[in-house]
Amino acid sequence: MKTAPSSSKARAAQALNGTEAAAEVIADVARQMRRSGVVPKLAVVLVGEDPASMVYVANKARQAERIGYASLQVRLPARTSDAELAAVICGLNDDASVHGILVQLPLPPHLSAEAVACQIAPDKDVDGFHEVNVGRMTLRSSRSAFVPCTPLGCMHLIHQAIGHDLKGLNAVVIGKSNIVGRPMATLLMHAECTVSVAHIHTRDIEQLCRTADILVVAAGSPGLVRGDWIKPGAVVIDVGINRVDGEGGRKRLAGDVAYDEAAEIASFITPVPGGVGPMTIAMLMKNTYTAAVLAEQARMQTRAVPVTGSNGR
Ligand code: NAD
Repeated sequence: MKTAPSSSKARAAQALNGTEAAAEVIADVARQMRRSGVVPKLAVVLVGEDPASMVYVANKARQAERIGYASLQVRLPARTSDAELAAVICGLNDDASVHGILVQLPLPPHLSAEAVACQIAPDKDVDGFHEVNVGRMTLRSSRSAFVPCTPLGCMHLIHQAIGHDLKGLNAVVIGKSNIVGRPMATLLMHAECTVSVAHIHTRDIEQLCRTADILVVAAGSPGLVRGDWIKPGAVVIDVGINRVDGEGGRKRLAGDVAYDEAAEIASFITPVPGGVGPMTIAMLMKNTYTAAVLAEQARMQTRAVPVTGSNGR
């Protein structure tokens, strides 16, 4: 089903429940896992003690264990040098029992996320940040690519809202980071949308957003997108996770979209929390299962090759 939003009449949007959608994805992966007997192992590396990163890493490890994966957490001090981190990643690359490797971002400022991503073996790069996977995804290579988990989760929610045929819809992505904005724009382009990417230097961003049938916001700026930026009937995907002051001096999570205003205009909208966040972890589980299956297939193929003598017979 494709709903090319056109009605100018205001109505309440339907909330896209990422928690439920993520549970369905995970149940599907668990079913496949039971059928195949392949048990994936995910290694998560955390450098330093950033409190938010510690929560994210614990959530990923907990979900991995809940679904029945083996998991391994490697905690390194913030002062870890790039050579020390590279040695840890190299060890995980060489460990045949590990199928997926993830280095939690952000890294301490003396370490380069781009360099670290390219140290992970591409076939264990379940975050999809290695340039080989980025290249395969961008070029739609016939060799399977790991696609970054957050954009993959956003696409899942968009398809759930308005179906798989997105041809010709106008999509606007706010943010052009390597982990969200750029891959998101690529996936929307692959789906034959007409895609615009906005960022901090974009002029008249409000007007651009008003053209969007699909609006994905990944800016890290709480409440950036207001209700009157939204085209009536648009699908709004809010990737932002911001810690803002809440009642009683407590911190609460807020997205990049002014939810109540936007929900009056959009047709579908993701809440924060409970929207894109859970989908990111579900897609990580899915990518890790894929990595394990591909590793198992490669192992079987290697075993199937007959051993020949030195003269080739
Ligand atoms: P980033 O800082 O790397 O990139 C932000 C992008 O937004 C940049 O391209 C910048 O130009 C643009 N931007 C910033 N302020 C803007 C403004 N006022 N107007 C227009 N463009 C603006 O951030 P990121 O890593 O892509 O993350 C973005 C947000 O998404 C953050 O809140 C982050 O916490 C969140 N995030 C959520 C998940 C999830 O699982 N839900 C995953 C990754 C990131």
